[in-house]
Amino acid sequence: MKISTLSIGDELLFGEVVDTNASRIAARLYDEGIKVQRHLLVGDDLFAIIDTLHYLAEGSDVLIVTGGLGPTGDDLTAEAAAAATGQSLVLNEEALARMVECVGREGGEFMAASRRQALLPAVCTLIVNPTGTASGFIVTRNRCHLIFLPGVPSEMIRMLDETVLPFIGERLVKKVAIRTKVFTLLGIAEAEMDRIMADLPDPAAGLSVAYRVRFPTIDLKLRGEGDSEAAVAALLGGGTATVRARLGEFIIAEDGATLDDEVARLLRDTGVTVSLAESCTGGLIAKRLTDVAGSSAYFLEGNVVYSNGAKSRLLGVPQETLREHGAVSAEVAVAMAQGGRRAAGSTVALAVTGVAGPGASEEKPAGMVFIALADEEGCQVREYSFRGDRRQVRSLTAYTALDWLRRYLMTR
Ligand code: ATP
Ligand code: MG
Repeated sequence: MKISTLSIGDELLFGEVVDTNASRIAARLYDEGIKVQRHLLVGDDLFAIIDTLHYLAEGSDVLIVTGGLGPTGDDLTAEAAAAATGQSLVLNEEALARMVECVGREGGEFMAASRRQALLPAVCTLIVNPTGTASGFIVTRNRCHLIFLPGVPSEMIRMLDETVLPFIGERLVKKVAIRTKVFTLLGIAEAEMDRIMADLPDPAAGLSVAYRVRFPTIDLKLRGEGDSEAAVAALLGGGTATVRARLGEFIIAEDGATLDDEVARLLRDTGVTVSLAESCTGGLIAKRLTDVAGSSAYFLEGNVVYSNGAKSRLLGVPQETLREHGAVSAEVAVAMAQGGRRAAGSTVALAVTGVAGPGASEEKPAGMVFIALADEEGCQVREYSFRGDRRQVRSLTAYTALDWLRRYLMTR
């Protein structure tokens, strides 16, 4: 089945409003195993709308149109629908009755000018709008069903779910099964990932791979398509095993879970409490930990120790360690973690100190970061050289520290 979508409205064309209708319709259809073939955007211009309806209807079995069904002068969709299907506009009594009822339900007064909104193509099937005044409708042009919905996103989505998807489902000849599997990775570049996975996509079998960068992580999305759910499950199962085998060390989450949620879950499960001593991240890690509801069960405290004085006073980092090695050093990171752990009385403490940039300090390059993790057994420290601007270095540091905590907790 070939499906196209069309969004109507100057505000969309001029970039004032983001066309969320298109993506929501596409995503809903995709969940049903149907791929949208084409999508277009047109402004509030009668001739442009008629032209586009002809064009899209020509190559489609179903065309879903949103926007321009209201009562104002710039709402031209019904007129265009009539013109594109060689019909006249007539007052649709049922649509009018529904409008009056809707306005009454909301305690408003029906305006005569709103009658305009019930002028619809003479031959059409109404689509009930349970939450608004503008009815949707379906007309046919040759073999194409043209489905018109209001632009208001909440009204559109409800009508899509309640009427349009069942309508399309009844007409589907063969349904393709589609399933996806998402991995979130940290610490590997997109190009490198692509190189390692180059032989995985198998278009003939229906397996494809896509990457999406969401700094500092990258999502790897496997998509399987086939005739049956079982065939697709087998296809994805094979792909999943390959991804885990080759990229396992970089995977921080699967199926849309976030690193923060994973860390939270592990902290809850292990009963480990945590404290933080942050320098270059300025509290970013504490923010991420406390973004998760219920974090008071395991997060005890975090210190933002930016100056040397604060590092000594709050965490007991010896003055001579600071003097000898500089604030950005393995020795100071260790002293921060151990001092932080002592002060908070937590099971583990994470400490970060680094040069976020731009520019270097103490002859140390921007991006140089030390992360330390202290527990009852001792303290480990790791050195990193991150690339990127200040924001990126700070974000990478926070992610990397939390990912270390995640891996550590998995072995406890
Ligand atoms: P109304 O009866 O409210 O006039 P309508 O069918 O005429 O409905 P529009 O006037 O085109 O729809 O849009 C109504 C609201 O929905 C506006 O706020 C508009 O910005 C928003 N909207 C319209 N189309 C889209 C779209 N494709 N994506 C997101 N929002 C949209
Ligand atoms: Mg409108």
